[in-house]
Amino acid sequence: MEEPRLDSLYQQLILEHYRAPKNKREMDDPSVEVHLANPVCGDEIRLQLKVEGDHISDVSFVGQGCSISQAAVSMMTALLKGRSLSEADSLAERFKEMMHGDEAASKDRAMGDLRALAGVSKFPVRIKCALLGFDALQQAMGKAGSE
Ligand code: ZN
Repeated sequence: MEEPRLDSLYQQLILEHYRAPKNKREMDDPSVEVHLANPVCGDEIRLQLKVEGDHISDVSFVGQGCSISQAAVSMMTALLKGRSLSEADSLAERFKEMMHGDEAASKDRAMGDLRALAGVSKFPVRIKCALLGFDALQQAMGKAGSE
């Protein structure tokens, strides 16, 4: 699939996360894990969370797919450790706003490296790639809350 043309600085940041992803490892004893795929592009991730009380004490993932999907998960995990479940959910909602073209969200410092993905909002087919990690996160938190 053709890669969207993004600002070159952002493109570089995306490739850095793709080549050297954060938190890409298998966790020994996750509280919850979710496996999600985006068959349109061939992206796949398994997200693992360790939840203690109402906080995410650890997060990891394994997966494969396009640079946008894998970089987005890496960027997401870099922001999650130590966050409360409600903070993590807010981040997910903020990211979705950014994928819908919300300019304020794309400039929100709380989004960290995820801001590099703002340009993806112009490529509807690729939005699913970028959202895969947060979709898995929200499903995982739903599971964690119901156990
Ligand atoms: Zn993809």
